[in-house]
Amino acid sequence: MRGHGQQGGRRPGRGPLAALPSEAGSGSSGVSSAAEVCQVLLLPRKVFKPHFPNKGAAVNRRRLLERFLQYVQIDTTAREAAPQYPSSVGQLELGRLLVEQLRALGIDAQQDQHGIVMATIPANVGHASNLPVIALCAHLDTSFETSGASVKPQVIDNYPGGDILLPGDPNRVIRVADNPELDRLRGCTLVTSDGTTLLGADDKAGVAVIIEAAAWLMEHPQVPHGPIRLVFTCDEEIGRGVEKLDLDKIGAAVCYTLDGRGSDEIDVETFSADLATVVVSGRNIHPSIAKGRMVNALRAAGELLARLPRDRLAPEATEGRQGFLHPYDISGGVAEVTIKVLLRDFDSAKLAEQADLLRRQAQQVMEAFPGSTIDVQVRPQYRNMAEGLKREPRAVAYAQEALSRLGRTAKLTFVRGGTDGSRLTEMGLPTPNLSCGQHNPHSPLEWACLEEMELAARWVVELVQVWAEKPG
Ligand SMILES: [Zn+2]
Repeated sequence: MRGHGQQGGRRPGRGPLAALPSEAGSGSSGVSSAAEVCQVLLLPRKVFKPHFPNKGAAVNRRRLLERFLQYVQIDTTAREAAPQYPSSVGQLELGRLLVEQLRALGIDAQQDQHGIVMATIPANVGHASNLPVIALCAHLDTSFETSGASVKPQVIDNYPGGDILLPGDPNRVIRVADNPELDRLRGCTLVTSDGTTLLGADDKAGVAVIIEAAAWLMEHPQVPHGPIRLVFTCDEEIGRGVEKLDLDKIGAAVCYTLDGRGSDEIDVETFSADLATVVVSGRNIHPSIAKGRMVNALRAAGELLARLPRDRLAPEATEGRQGFLHPYDISGGVAEVTIKVLLRDFDSAKLAEQADLLRRQAQQVMEAFPGSTIDVQVRPQYRNMAEGLKREPRAVAYAQEALSRLGRTAKLTFVRGGTDGSRLTEMGLPTPNLSCGQHNPHSPLEWACLEEMELAARWVVELVQVWAEKPG
């Protein structure tokens, strides 16, 4: 690119890498004069920082970038309130594109009636019948927290270090102070949005990584692997990612989601999660004649909230492996109030203690507000992935081994939240989550690192080989 860091790759519409030098002129037409056209000349691999050693599959980084840029420009924002599945048509569009691209690679691929794309790369080794099916999974939707419409990706090749300005909004700056990992990515190729939207690397980085790994495997049939199932899900961001998944159809012994931050991390633990719905009932009557008769559910609800711990067991007061109760939604009036409370802990047994605490406080509030009733209903949401991963220790061990073959060491990490993998693992399909180059998800300050995505694709290629070497 011309200059460094702050040039914007403004690219109207979709298409292949529009910022190629030959297309730079046409790519900028119709775009405001302030927009600089970023010339993407991917530098040869020798400029890689030494911390990205050139081991393993020589995946096609240019094609990986092109695909990624193509995917992020399809608006697949998940719509929380939408009754249909998937919640946005863009997810269907992206799914159709993936089916086309997979078929062009010679891979059998289908999109089902729910928009879920599934594809199979058959085993290419003689002892395939002994080999488990390995699934690779990414989600097509992006977060509703920031718009994913009209994403204009900015490609920064050979990142020189320093803060990154976003050309569409001068107030939005990706600061090194907030992203210390930028310091070790000098010389790498970074991708951002123009600052007016999210980028969508969560999880289109994962989608692009899986497609590139699949393409590379198809081009190298001599590299041994067992059966591989590719799965692209919808509406993960609104908690409906596994709702329409048929585990029998996937038929895998183990699954890996490519939906993790940065590089080298394997998320092996998530929260266990319950949702408490608290209904506070009072008695409404016209305030003019309310003396001794009205029971105001709003006041009782306020009292209950005030009694929940704030200096501990609250998201504002906890970090690391500490759990919390998080009242996050309240609605209603004098007659009735509904409060929703998230219960979260890495230790599933602690969720019952949190529910007990909520019920004890509810009891005391009822005593303080005679005539009120408070009903607390708790339903499970998901369970710590670690519980299910214990049943298939190879899932994590082989991922560690695969990364070590690339000369790197995996970091086992935990997520203060849930992933599709926590649900899948709970449902019987062990599913750790792997890094794929995402940073600052759900934000206009989101960015991705191409070298980390490339590393993830090489990781996946090693991983399917490790599984093929160790039958049974
Ligand atoms: Zn994600």
